[in-house]
Amino acid sequence: MKTTTKVSWVLTLALVLATGFAGVNRSAAADSPRARLTVTVRIHNNAEVDDKMLAEAEKVAMEIFRKAGVESRWVDDALTSENNNETLAHQGAFPLSHIWVSIYTGSMADRFGLPSKVMGFTPGTERNRQLVYVFYNRVEALAQSQLRARFEGSGRRPATTAQILGHVIAHELGHVLLNIASHSATGLMRGGWNLKDLQNAAYGCLLFTSQQAEVIRTEVFRRVTDSKMP
Ligand SMILES: [Zn+2]
Repeated sequence: MKTTTKVSWVLTLALVLATGFAGVNRSAAADSPRARLTVTVRIHNNAEVDDKMLAEAEKVAMEIFRKAGVESRWVDDALTSENNNETLAHQGAFPLSHIWVSIYTGSMADRFGLPSKVMGFTPGTERNRQLVYVFYNRVEALAQSQLRARFEGSGRRPATTAQILGHVIAHELGHVLLNIASHSATGLMRGGWNLKDLQNAAYGCLLFTSQQAEVIRTEVFRRVTDSKMP
């Protein structure tokens, strides 16, 4: 890689699988102001990402949301033969403040017909979506491409694989909480990340804009309080 443009990978929110979410499960939520701005992220690690790597990525994503004024609770979903939480999440069977992150290898992305550089995917257009996908081996591929570019003289600080994974997770959750199919010109919600973006990620500076953060806080509040309704 001799130029930064070659490492401009794409994060896409595709508009396929526009499945509606029929029902919303109600559950009690804590009443503190802090709890009202807490989203629960359920991780479905189908790609068998290493525990340490995943924990680091979760910490990165958590910090991104914290800087946007939102707390997050991360739960690793146990994978069992009976596990159909992903399907249930599609059907809106959980409180709205819960969002699933299903991590797969690229083969799942191929099944969706996504371009080879797409690292994440948020299906549907429904406001109450609760499921996003992340494709781990594509995250790894970007990390490796970035390192090659760096060694060829870019001089930039590279992001680790865990940092990239955390940012991809936060980006896809951003599509859900912002309820947007589009990307922004700056920050975490850019549609493609170049080496400068990845350097910003390495320094913890690839974030939601202040305007996006405000929308996300409002949306998390809506989801948490909606979950309390009878
Ligand atoms: Zn995107």
